Amino acid sequence: MAKRSVLKCPVCGSADLYYENAMITGVVYHCKKCGYVGSFVVEEDYDEDELEEDEKNKE
Ligand SMILES: [Zn+2]
Repeated sequence: MAKRSVLKCPVCGSADLYYENAMITGVVYHCKKCGYVGSFVVEEDYDEDELEEDEKNKE
């Protein structure tokens, strides 16, 4: 079974995160959904099956 690791927002649980390199703090993540900004995110393992399911449920 293929496993993938995803990063999730600790506030709203969204996986719609992107990150930037910040000079001083290292990596800072931004959540597209709730606007969370910070270096802490939730890392979660995923089955590929679940991932596909998630893609279908988007929008
Ligand atoms: Zn969020």
